[in-house]
Order: sequence, then structure tokens, then C-alpha cells
Amino acid sequence: MRVNIILACTECKQRNYTSSKNKKTNPDRLELKKYCKFCKAETVHKETK
Ligand SMILES: [Zn+2]
Repeated sequence: MRVNIILACTECKQRNYTSSKNKKTNPDRLELKKYCKFCKAETVHKETK
């Protein structure tokens, strides 16, 4: 049930992280605070396809 996802910075739209999630427990778009090396700060990263 796990799918691969890409996490993109909501500030600069750079795709910084790849991850995987369980579609059953996480049906919605993931939002994680992660460090963006382009913004040089912690920003919200959103799941993208
Ligand atoms: Zn960024």
C-alpha cells in the first residue's frame, strides 16, 4: 500500500525530497516542515506528483 512521493518546497517550488507514504493512513497530501537548501531555511514541503 506504500507509494513513492516527491516533496517540493512551497516557497521556491524546488523538489528537495523523495519519500514514501502509506495511502491508507495518509490519503491526503503530505505537508512537512523541512530544510530547503535553496531558501536556506525550514519551509513547508508539500507532496507533489
Ligand atoms: Zn525552497
